[in-house]
Amino acid sequence: MSMVFKSPSKYVQGFGVLGEVEKYLVDSMGKNLFVIMDPVVEETVKPMLNQCIDKGYTIAYAAFQGECSRKNIEKYIELAKSAGATTVFGVGGGKTMDTAKGVAHLSGMSLVIVPTAASTDAPCSSVSVMYHEDGEFDDWLFLNANPNLVLVDTSVIVKAPVKLLVAGMGDALSTYFEARVCRASGSKNQAKASPTIAATTLAEKCWEILARDGVRAKLAAEAGVCTPAFEAVVEINTLLSSVGFESGGLGAAHAIQKGFTLIPELHRAFHGYIVAFCTITQLVMENVDDTQLNAVLKFCKDVGLPICFADFGYHDVDYDLLWEVADKTNKIGVSVHHLPFEVNTQMIYDGLLAADAIGRAYHANYA
Ligand SMILES: [Zn+2]
Repeated sequence: MSMVFKSPSKYVQGFGVLGEVEKYLVDSMGKNLFVIMDPVVEETVKPMLNQCIDKGYTIAYAAFQGECSRKNIEKYIELAKSAGATTVFGVGGGKTMDTAKGVAHLSGMSLVIVPTAASTDAPCSSVSVMYHEDGEFDDWLFLNANPNLVLVDTSVIVKAPVKLLVAGMGDALSTYFEARVCRASGSKNQAKASPTIAATTLAEKCWEILARDGVRAKLAAEAGVCTPAFEAVVEINTLLSSVGFESGGLGAAHAIQKGFTLIPELHRAFHGYIVAFCTITQLVMENVDDTQLNAVLKFCKDVGLPICFADFGYHDVDYDLLWEVADKTNKIGVSVHHLPFEVNTQMIYDGLLAADAIGRAYHANYA
């Protein structure tokens, strides 16, 4: 089987890079920019982006509202076309970026992604996670290309709520463990091909750097400062986690996360928080040794990622619904079957309850 490695054409990270965006745009992107932006970052980001108007660019803005749904993507395509746009920007959180990706994919425009928090592995990938209007998971939308440019301004990222950085660490935590099972089972990555050594190595780096710099990065973010540890974790959450999952492959963690979208009270929970707990569930299903499981539990506890249901706001556990979560994961979460052994609904259900029990016990014994 062939190997495929996918990545954005260009990745730029640094303090204040948004103010010089035109340096990173190329002629083929045209001069008419259509920016889908989260309203919450407008005040900070708009003046920085507007600096490129002096260099001959036009910018039309549209506020992001709602879900990353097919209906919403169609709406923004119409707006972009009526503005004569040649390049679409997605500025904000995961759903905004995924919507911009859908617009670029279906309209043929160039794509620039500007995450305003290091909260998910969405920015660099060529996949959009689609939701129904009510927030339940719909499907993956596989794009024909990765973004032309991913611009990560750490002067903006450092102003984002710290819990978003932590959520990004939860998403990046899964990357190594998911890529590892793909290697072990010979499973395909998100490009439906074998992972390259480059992708698996980047995935490994995610856990290595998080374990080293995760707590320091969180403390820097709380102090509102960009340190080397903060910059490193931003890169891990945004670039390595993204390339690592797409080209390294997914495992049980992201499959179970999909199943969790069946629980309405978790629709507002951060993706990365649920993924962190699902990573622990995967490790429990794999029955990894104590050293590894405890290292992950300690990391999660230290940075404030959930290790039991109650930690991510699931207090009144509905066991019938949890069985449905496990069943949905087994049926539609393709990557749960990337584990190097046969998996069924019962094993996923047992893994979830065992992970919750282990997490609660860890809390009780944590000194
Ligand atoms: Zn993810």
